[in-house]
Amino acid sequence: LGPTITIGEILVEIMATDRGTGFLEPITLIGPYPSGAPAIFIDQCARIGGAAGIIACVGDDDFGRVNVARLRADGADVSAISISAEFPTGSAFVRYRTDGTRDFVFNIARSAAAQIDLSAAARALIARSGHLHVMGTALAISGTIEIIEHAIAAIKARGGSISFDPNVRKELLGQSETRARFASLVDIADLILPSGDELFVAAGVTGESEAVRALFARNASEVALKRGAKGSTVFTRDGRRIDCPAFAVEEIDPTGAGDCFGGAYVACRRLGMPIEQALTYANAAGARNVTAKGPMEGAGTRAELDAFIAMTPGRSR
Ligand code: ADP
Repeated sequence: LGPTITIGEILVEIMATDRGTGFLEPITLIGPYPSGAPAIFIDQCARIGGAAGIIACVGDDDFGRVNVARLRADGADVSAISISAEFPTGSAFVRYRTDGTRDFVFNIARSAAAQIDLSAAARALIARSGHLHVMGTALAISGTIEIIEHAIAAIKARGGSISFDPNVRKELLGQSETRARFASLVDIADLILPSGDELFVAAGVTGESEAVRALFARNASEVALKRGAKGSTVFTRDGRRIDCPAFAVEEIDPTGAGDCFGGAYVACRRLGMPIEQALTYANAAGARNVTAKGPMEGAGTRAELDAFIAMTPGRSR
């Protein structure tokens, strides 16, 4: 039915090399690394061999070029990435605290990412795509909503499917418009990929089985729950539960794990793999990605993930 597509922010990440340091004094930073949740997702999707494309906007600068070059090299369709003459590519500065939590300084709201529009190239990509993956992060970017809505209608009309990663920042759900968009995505998605408590936020109830049931009472037929270093579980509407223990890795940089997990899971399912196999690749993609510095530096091809799976023991096996 055509490629998997996503819509949303492309940016670069620049990170502190040492844990515990703040931005209040000069510190050593490395980067720029290609980033943005939709970009990481689509890069992993393409790397594993699924047809994949992204609708986005970057600035006419090296931060934009480094992203487009990476996505193109990894096999993603970049025809619908427009270039803003006026706004720069967004950036995120990140530092890790000693407890492993992160602190970001974002320059996205007034960047090229807010200039995504329904260009002729975007319309053409949507018209030939078979699956739309919606990122919660994109719901907060003005201008992307209309494009997402257009894509949902067009892809559903073609008999395509929708997945939703409800990774929206909690404070944004305080805004009634964002909350309504979030709820409507939960209502129409075929596959929902929450991480931890996002399951309860999406379902509107607490308790794992209650929340999963609430999602199946809407449109979803699969829920893929990400549990960080504890692995993941897929629940299906017909009552199956497939658990996948995490691979035992040393976590160097957690950014992008969930996006790689999602990109691999969606690509593998669309390639026709059964849930168990897709989930193993998704777990491997998430785990491999945390072993490398940079949001998408650890994304893997199918051969790289096969090698990773063969070499890496499970955490609780
Ligand atoms: P998100 O980035 O959306 O919060 P998670 O942190 O749950 O998502 O990561 C997604 C998946 O990546 C997990 O379900 C797991 O399979 C894998 N993963 C993430 N962190 C680790 C880790 N430290 N060790 C092993 N696997 C991990």
